[in-house]
Amino acid sequence: MQSIKSVYKIGNGPSSSHTVGPYRAASQFGARYPDADAYRVTLYGSLAFTGEGHGTGGAIKTGLPGAEIVFNREVRERDLPHPNTMLFEALKDGEVIGSNRIFSIGGGSIRIEGEESDEEREVYPQKHFSEILQLCREKSISLAQFIYRMEDPTIRQYLATVWEAMKDSIHRGLEAEGVLPGGLGVSRKSKKLYNMRCYNESADVAMNRIIAAYAYAVSEENADEHIVVTAPTCGSCGVLPAVLYYMYNDRGFPEEEILDALAVAAIFGNVIRTNASISGAECGCQAEIGSACSMTAAALASLYGLNIDQIEYAAEIAMEHNLGLTCDPVNGLVQIPCIERNAVAAMRAISSVNLSRFLYETRKISFDEVIATMYRTGKDMDEKYRETSHGGLAKIYYGSI
Ligand code: SF4
Repeated sequence: MQSIKSVYKIGNGPSSSHTVGPYRAASQFGARYPDADAYRVTLYGSLAFTGEGHGTGGAIKTGLPGAEIVFNREVRERDLPHPNTMLFEALKDGEVIGSNRIFSIGGGSIRIEGEESDEEREVYPQKHFSEILQLCREKSISLAQFIYRMEDPTIRQYLATVWEAMKDSIHRGLEAEGVLPGGLGVSRKSKKLYNMRCYNESADVAMNRIIAAYAYAVSEENADEHIVVTAPTCGSCGVLPAVLYYMYNDRGFPEEEILDALAVAAIFGNVIRTNASISGAECGCQAEIGSACSMTAAALASLYGLNIDQIEYAAEIAMEHNLGLTCDPVNGLVQIPCIERNAVAAMRAISSVNLSRFLYETRKISFDEVIATMYRTGKDMDEKYRETSHGGLAKIYYGSI
C-alpha cells in the first residue's frame, strides 16, 4: 500500500476526481510541454457527463494558466480503462507534439497511462487489514504506532497541515452565508444550523446538530469550490473533520490525539483505495461517503481508546450500512444529496462506534470482507448510479419545492 498521505490531499472542491485530479493532470502535462501553443483535452465517461457541473473545465484551466484549450466531451466511448479518463494533447502550429491518457483515479490521485509515479510508491507491504491486525497483535502495538513505524518522519507534520486545513474549512464554512453556485438555489445552512438551539434541547440532540453544522460547513465550502481536504474525497470531505472537530473543540480532546486519529482513519481509507475504490464514478457513493463514514468511525474509536478489534468493527459497521449507496448528484453538482449526506454519515459513524464498543466480540464480518463486498456491489451497479447524473435523484428531482 502507498503512504497514507495519498488519502488526504488539500485542494479546491467540489470533486476530488473531477477537479483536484484534473487540475493535477493539467499542471503535470503542461510542465511536460511548455512550448505548446495550445492544448486539446478530451473528457470521457463520468468526466464527460458530470464534468461541467463539477467544474472540471475550470480546474483544467487553472492547471494550464493562460493556455488556449480546446475541450471535447466524448460520451459514446464505453471501453474505458477507467471511468474518469482524460486525453491531453499538446499542440504546436496545429500539430500534436505530445499526448498522454491520464486517469483521475479518485481522491485527487492520478495515473498517467504506461507510467509509474512517486504517488504510487509502496510504503506498506500489507495490503489487507487482516495483515495489519495480525502484525499489531504480534508486536503489541497500536494502529497509530504501526503507522508511524512505516511512514517517513514527515508524517506527523503532514497530518498537522491536513488538520489545520480541515479546521480552516470549518471556520470559513460556519461564517459564510448565501446561495451556492450552480443554479440549484441551494442556500448555505451551516451557520444557521450551528446557532439553531431549540427549546429544551437534550445534550444528544445538541451534539448531533453541532456535528451536522460542522459537516455542512466543510461540504458547503467544497460546493463553493473553496479549499478542503479529501477525506477520502472532496464529495465526502465533511464527515471526518466534523466528528474530529467536535471532539477537539467541544469535548476537549488534545490535538496530539486528533492527529493519531487522523492517521488511523487514513489507514482504513488506504485499505479501501488499495483493495476497492474511493471513486463515486467507479463504485457509487458507497465508495465515497461509505469510506468517509468508515474512516471516521475508526478515528473516533481510536480517539476513545477502544481496542483494535473494536476499531475494526466500528469501521466495518459504518461501511456495511452504506453498501449499495448510489451516486446521483442533481445537475452534476456536489450539493444534492452530497452535503446532507455528509452530515448523516457523521452521525452514523458515531452510532457505529457505540455498537462496536459493546458487540465486537460477537461480530461475524471482517473489514476486508465488507470492502470486497463494496467493490463487487459497485462493479454490479448500473452506470447511471455512478456519478453520471443519469439516475436516482438526478433524474427524479424537478426543483418543485
Ligand atoms: S452522491 Fe456521493 S459520490 Fe456522488 S458526488 Fe455526491 S458525495 Fe460524491
